[in-house]
Amino acid sequence: MKDRIPDKTGHFGIFGGRFVPETLIYALDELEKEYTKSKKDKNFAKDFDYLLREYAGRPTPLYLAKNLSRVLKIKKIYLKREDLLHTGAHKINNTLGQVLLAVKMGKSRLIAETGAGQHGVATATVAALFGLKCDIYMGEEDITRQGLNVMRMKLLGARVISVKSGTRTLKDAMTEALRDWVTNVRNTYYVIGTVAGPRPYPEMVRNFQAVIGREARSQILKKEKRLPDYLVACVGGGSNAIGLFHPFFDDAKVKMIGVEAAGLGLYSGKHSASLEAGGVGVLHGSKSKILEDESGQIKNAHSIAAGLDYPGVGPEHAYYREIKRAVYVSVTDKEALEGFKLLSQSEGIIPALESAHALSYLKKSARQFKDSIVIVCLSGRGDKDLHEPH
Ligand SMILES: *Cc1c(COP(=O)(O)O)cnc(C)c1O
Repeated sequence: MKDRIPDKTGHFGIFGGRFVPETLIYALDELEKEYTKSKKDKNFAKDFDYLLREYAGRPTPLYLAKNLSRVLKIKKIYLKREDLLHTGAHKINNTLGQVLLAVKMGKSRLIAETGAGQHGVATATVAALFGLKCDIYMGEEDITRQGLNVMRMKLLGARVISVKSGTRTLKDAMTEALRDWVTNVRNTYYVIGTVAGPRPYPEMVRNFQAVIGREARSQILKKEKRLPDYLVACVGGGSNAIGLFHPFFDDAKVKMIGVEAAGLGLYSGKHSASLEAGGVGVLHGSKSKILEDESGQIKNAHSIAAGLDYPGVGPEHAYYREIKRAVYVSVTDKEALEGFKLLSQSEGIIPALESAHALSYLKKSARQFKDSIVIVCLSGRGDKDLHEPH
């Protein structure tokens, strides 16, 4: 079943597809052709595995968090330690896959958009590794907020282009990056950082991130001789979550929970919970659940976790929700900060504020998980978040 989605037109049920200007079709077709070819190319798989292992540090451990399990009175909580990867988060899995495609396609330049700067850093990293030029689009507002990541990208040799249009944040940066791609498609590859965007991006990014779930599945079978009861992961665009979920799709007994950012509360209007509180619409080239106002304008998302601060979500999650394969919940900024502290102090692991959303949901609903084996995706490390009040 899981290998049949998306269909040939890039649809997951009614979601996904390709809603782009005519001028982008050529670029997307070229990418899709190369990606389809790479799926059957043994050398591509070999190169990708090599980089994941030797450069990024895979496989990541599936760590039994005994202290946290005891504190929350949950049978067993395992953490999939994506925080231990090079650059400190799961995003490197995807950028390594995409840079290999870019090189195969003979492109000499990478572009990407970034909000908090995490995807920008992961892209600048692989550009440096392969000696490619790299331009990162970033909203002017975000550039001031995320100084450290801007310095990282520059040190890695990338140019950070300040976007001054609109709200000067992520969604405007994405629009500018698309515009650049249309103009420079001959030598330029556009690296999207999550399971969003037009076909073939959502499927492609999912498959690059599915290494998380494949490893977790075989690790838990080895440790417990059985599958977990629950998978829990935070959802921004949804790439770490779908990466964990997808390889378990056919295991009907394994329940999946995606945790969105409720920000200051779902009724405050300041949140990023597109699945729980959004409507169906088109954003950045595909149909999904998005945050929009009455007149169809995209609303600004809010979350204390910069990586969750996106007004859309990958179409595959909208589909999983529709067919009830996964459930989606949300936790507030304040609750996320409790999760942040809880893991730091019980296990000596400082999680990214994004991942802290998933942990915080365990705390909030501990009763539900009492007799369960739970795998939580620890999508990144929290050093970047120390400036937040906690
Ligand atoms: C970017 C990011 C996320 C959110 O992105 P997804 O595509 O939803 O995974 C989550 N955690 C960390 C650490 C991130 O950097």
